[in-house]
Amino acid sequence: MSIKIHLPRSIIYLGTAAVTLILIIFLYSANRDNGSRSLQKAQRESYRLGTIVRITLYGDDSKKLNNVLDLSMKEIERLENLLSVNIPSSDVSLVNRASGEYPVKVSEEAGSLLERAIEWSERTGGAFDPTVGKIVKLWGIGTESAAVPDPEQLKEAVDMTDFRKVSVLHEVNGTFVQTAKGQRIDLGGIAKGYITEKVKALLINEGVSSALIDLGGNIAVFGSSPKPGKWKLGLQHPFMPRGEYFGIAEVSDVSVVTSGAYERYFESGGIRYHHIFDTATGYPALSDLASVTIISEDSTDADALSTALFVMGFERGISLLRELKNVEAVLVAKKTEGTIVYVTKGLSKGFLLKDPAMKKAPEVQ
Ligand code: FAD
Ligand code: MG
Repeated sequence: MSIKIHLPRSIIYLGTAAVTLILIIFLYSANRDNGSRSLQKAQRESYRLGTIVRITLYGDDSKKLNNVLDLSMKEIERLENLLSVNIPSSDVSLVNRASGEYPVKVSEEAGSLLERAIEWSERTGGAFDPTVGKIVKLWGIGTESAAVPDPEQLKEAVDMTDFRKVSVLHEVNGTFVQTAKGQRIDLGGIAKGYITEKVKALLINEGVSSALIDLGGNIAVFGSSPKPGKWKLGLQHPFMPRGEYFGIAEVSDVSVVTSGAYERYFESGGIRYHHIFDTATGYPALSDLASVTIISEDSTDADALSTALFVMGFERGISLLRELKNVEAVLVAKKTEGTIVYVTKGLSKGFLLKDPAMKKAPEVQ
């Protein structure tokens, strides 16, 4: 018996502007009479983190798998309550309300994630910056009040966007975060990756041997795919409707995270404004990249990197990739000669380009 799972339009069109950089996953359940024990599949879906989250587990005890799915959804809810800029009681909101006043005691998890985000700010020269929250709030993309901000206000927000003004203090009585007056932390560019890592650790701890975690397009797979061989993940085509893909990545035990300007945006005066900001201007990044997919063992890093490389653009992005170990990427670049797909060396055998209108460049890195 083989089943093909893809994202039904109804699921995607939930009327949310949530980011759903969709990776279409083609999974075939193992052929039951392949001589091995029959493989059960358990899947759960929920609206969390402003998007659709879906976890698919494979194993031989469906009761146990469903119990673990309950635990996983509870873990996502717990971390959303800790890290969401949209929940007033979250650690992030507590820090934002006290900006410039006093150090706020936060959970060790929120503190260490903020430190990780700041490390990526340093490595990307501020292209990735978790203090982008003021700019994000002004634009309101993904909400009913999305609009082009007043240039004066935007300039003020850009002046406040500076990761160097954030301190994370590890004291004997806990972890504290202090930000500068008016600063606003927003972990939307890294926290889905972190939450994916936490869910993966929970699944492994509960004895799950094979799973696919999809938090709004932030994907992680581990263990064997239900079909012999690697997992096959389709990468959303940046210029086609949701559900169409430009290529297939064959992977195992990694995270596959994509950032692009085609999911979360609004249009005004015939211009499309997307949700990934150039922290130097406060405007949506004018990237020469249409989409960035990062493939790495760590989902937190992959999430931050996909956002950062999108802002950095092709040249700066490739030079950063050259410095990194065990990180692969698929970059879709908009060039004068057309749409060019760049794949890093370590992935070149595991990536199949499907759109004949796109050209595959010689491998990079
Ligand atoms: P990515 O490229 O991974 O990140 C883009 C997001 O990162 C932007 O939305 C912004 O938040 C931030 N960002 C933009 N530019 C930069 C930059 N230069 N450097 C660093 N960060 C940048 N969405 C809702 O609509 N409603 C919700 O209630 C909601 N709650 C959430 C709670 C949590 C804990 C998380 C992690 C996300 C939540 N979201 C919610 C979604 C969030 O607002 C982002 O849109 C989403 O995480 C973007 O993911 P992405 O993969 O599309 O883009
Ligand atoms: Mg990201």
